[in-house]
Formats: sequence, C-alpha cells, structure tokens
Amino acid sequence: MRVSVDTEICTGHGRCYALAPDVFGPDDRGHCEILVPDGGVPDALHAAARVGRDNCPELAITVIE
Ligand code: SF4
Repeated sequence: MRVSVDTEICTGHGRCYALAPDVFGPDDRGHCEILVPDGGVPDALHAAARVGRDNCPELAITVIE
C-alpha cells in the first residue's frame, strides 16, 4: 500500500493526523505530512491509512492498495 497527500488541496483540518498519527503528521503550518518513508505503508498501518483518507474533508489523501 502507498499513501500520498495532495498538498495543493490540503487545508490543514488535521483530522488525518488526529485519527491516524502513525501515518500522518502536521508540518510546521499544520498541513498534512506523510510520516511513513516514501509513502510505503506497512501492513500494520493499512487500516490507519484508510481512516485518514476517509476522514479528510478535502479528499486530499490518496491510498493505493
Ligand atoms: S485531514 Fe485532509 S485537509 Fe486536513 S490536514 Fe489531513 S490531509 Fe490536510
């Protein structure tokens, strides 16, 4: 699984990193930053990545299964 965020769309609601802090974190402006190296999501964090994607109000997060 790979995860990415469109930084042009992200407005910094913070729902992704509030709900899935092992995958997503805030940058210095409060916008989303992907924490897993190169966007590669380990098996144990697949559910968390989906939760972040599903709760982004801007649909800024893409998960490729
Ligand atoms: S929930 Fe969406 S808009 Fe908010 S910080 Fe995360 S990616 Fe950005």
